[in-house]
Amino acid sequence: MTPEPSDLQAVVQDLHRRNVTWLPAGLGSRLDWGPPVAQPHTVLSCRRLNRILEHNPGDFTISVEAGTPLVEVQQALAHHGQWLPVDWPWGSGPAGEASGSVGGLVARGQAGGYRQRYLGVRDQLIGIHLLRSDGVAARAGGKVVKNVAGYDLMRPLCGSWGSLALITSVTLRTQPIPPHRQGLRLEGARPALGSFCRWLLGSSLSPERLDWQRRGGEASLLVSLASISAQTLQEQIACIEEKAGGEGLGCGCLEPDALAAAECCGQGDPEPAWLLRLGVLPDRLPELLEQRALGGLELVMGAGSGLGYAWGSAAAVPAHRVESLRRHCHAAGGALTLLRQPSGSSLPAWLDAPSRPLIEALKRQFDPKQQLARGRLPGVAPVAG
Ligand SMILES: Cc1cc2nc3c(=O)[nH]c(=O)nc-3n(C[C@H](O)[C@H](O)[C@H](O)COP(=O)(O)OP(=O)(O)OC[C@H]3O[C@@H](n4cnc5c(N)ncnc54)[C@H](O)[C@@H]3O)c2cc1C
Repeated sequence: MTPEPSDLQAVVQDLHRRNVTWLPAGLGSRLDWGPPVAQPHTVLSCRRLNRILEHNPGDFTISVEAGTPLVEVQQALAHHGQWLPVDWPWGSGPAGEASGSVGGLVARGQAGGYRQRYLGVRDQLIGIHLLRSDGVAARAGGKVVKNVAGYDLMRPLCGSWGSLALITSVTLRTQPIPPHRQGLRLEGARPALGSFCRWLLGSSLSPERLDWQRRGGEASLLVSLASISAQTLQEQIACIEEKAGGEGLGCGCLEPDALAAAECCGQGDPEPAWLLRLGVLPDRLPELLEQRALGGLELVMGAGSGLGYAWGSAAAVPAHRVESLRRHCHAAGGALTLLRQPSGSSLPAWLDAPSRPLIEALKRQFDPKQQLARGRLPGVAPVAG
């Protein structure tokens, strides 16, 4: 169903009255990722909620309807020298619908390497409007950065995967686009890269991101630098080049276009059979990178956050190795979520979180009839079959 904005509330009320199970959707670009949703269900798309409601450049905030494509929001902000400091979702880049909607971005709540400097999607979110499962409209937060009244509904909604409510609009913080950007790619022996990483994260330099990447060959480090001052940028580069030289690492410069391409993951690639979201405590990242199961996969991992993605073909890694990788992530203070897995493989997309009872209590409050995204509740292991 793709209702007009004016019909949306009546449609949700009707689904509630008829006890229909349904799945909130944005542009439908990644709907089938993660655990399967119980069948049959109705898909309710926000595609027609596609307006930028208000951009306040002076306050650095923007309010948009949930179905607005991320790419359109970034283009509109760029006219004012601003941007939303979030990565392009896996499989997309600055061109095309694959970037998905802003509502989908918030509902999945995942962040990439820009988290190093700008924190995650949930930290950009300052207001939200939603429709509860019974069709009652609700809101939390506001349109200004300093807003503290009421329950913080934004945090549970961010990363809820459509399980709690239909997000209808969001207000997000914007940032000025830094006028000077440059990337550095560092290559060399893994221990030397690891020691460089520790130095950079502990230094007074302020990279926008510092990602471990492996595309085919050996792992390398991508450092993105940005500044309002060309001189400061050059000083940071010189400092990094000197340190890299001292560690015996190769160091190549990436101009802004090449850097933007290097920051995207899987853009234009066919969807991989395996797509894993990985997380460990940052200081356990070097150990994770040594894991045998990761050997056959491409990957990008934020050195400062310990979060990232690994992907590859069905033949690249057997399912039992993915399970051992999951055990390793848990032992290293993190988790592994299966966004995609080969057909025939039926590993649980995620396991129970320690806060499962709290998550289930929230679900009962928001959606007592269990109508939304049935079978897909982040933090609650899906029931097999
Ligand atoms: C660096 C990075 C990497 C990412 N990688 C992935 C990834 O690998 N896999 C992935 O799935 N996502 C990923 N994301 C999130 C991604 O941005 C969203 O999945 C994408 O924007 C989906 O947009 P869509 O409009 O096509 O949503 P859809 O595919 O339609 O829906 C995606 C999810 O969001 C829910 N949803 C969508 N709109 C709403 C709404 N208005 N209200 C409530 N729930 C809603 C759906 O139920 C579904 O669970 C990533 C994000 C970043 C920043």
